[in-house]
Amino acid sequence: MELTINSKVKLNNGLEMPLIGLGVYQSESGNETKDAVLYALKAGYRHIDTAKLYANEHDVGSAVKESGIPRNEIFVTTKLWNKDHGYENTIKAFNKSLEQLDLGYIDLYLIHWPVTGVRNETWKAMETLMETGKCKAIGVSNYTIKDLKELLAFAKIVPAINQVEFSPYLYQKELLDFCNKNTIQLEAYSPLTQGRKLKEKPLVDLSKKYDKTTAQIVLRWALQHNIIIIPKSVTESRIIENANIYDFNISNSDMDILDNLNEDFRVCWDPTNNP
Ligand code: NDP
Repeated sequence: MELTINSKVKLNNGLEMPLIGLGVYQSESGNETKDAVLYALKAGYRHIDTAKLYANEHDVGSAVKESGIPRNEIFVTTKLWNKDHGYENTIKAFNKSLEQLDLGYIDLYLIHWPVTGVRNETWKAMETLMETGKCKAIGVSNYTIKDLKELLAFAKIVPAINQVEFSPYLYQKELLDFCNKNTIQLEAYSPLTQGRKLKEKPLVDLSKKYDKTTAQIVLRWALQHNIIIIPKSVTESRIIENANIYDFNISNSDMDILDNLNEDFRVCWDPTNNP
């Protein structure tokens, strides 16, 4: 099926999640975040990715309300921060995020990082949150295959999402295959490598070939792997550019070229040595 800005993926609990969203990590709280979310909604995005850590949940909520778009047409993700792990703390932190966003419910609540020793107790609280109906799906972030195996061994609810760093320069194929096999949808953070690889020659060559920017090439690559993308920008022209990726198709041979750029390059934290 042809992809569009409205394309969604059905999660393992039946909830539909837009394949593209706006990330707001390092968007300043206040007008910077509010404006970015409004630009994105105007450009057709219907999905925003925030976190307690980003200190801008309130601005995301304000922009969603101000947009006038019905709440149920917008998908909002937020995340549990590391110091809020543990059963009771998780419930409290969730309620605080709910209050900050002030949107009635949260579409997707993620464990931001698999904190050692407490993450499993936290997952039980996440399962309880699902029963309240105030959150429509739960998932994890920065989980390795080892962490997912540990979780799947006791979980009553299989996480809907694993949000991890993912780009052609960090093509985590084994993790992607594991997630696909276990009905866990993979979501790519820092899909633009925070801009650090966008001038690399192989990307520039493909950019010329497809008459697209290198940012559009790497985002389209992820989409063609059926991965959710949440590029961040506070710049209106880039927010529009990053969603203008539905009028071309990367050929199989060029997908192979991009797949082969992997060099385990990370711009964010590395969970592979987390006990
Ligand atoms: P991205 O890979 O999305 O890159 C963002 C950077 O690229 C910003 O500096 C932005 O600048 C710039 N940029 C955006 N569009 C373009 C473009 N078209 N051309 C050139 N430069 C561009 O990085 P993030 O780390 O922000 O990741 C995206 C989202 O993923 C986050 O915002 C957050 O929601 C989530 N995330 C989750 C993590 C987790 O642990 N779960 C960790 C990290 C991110 P500008 O804004 O100035 O336009």
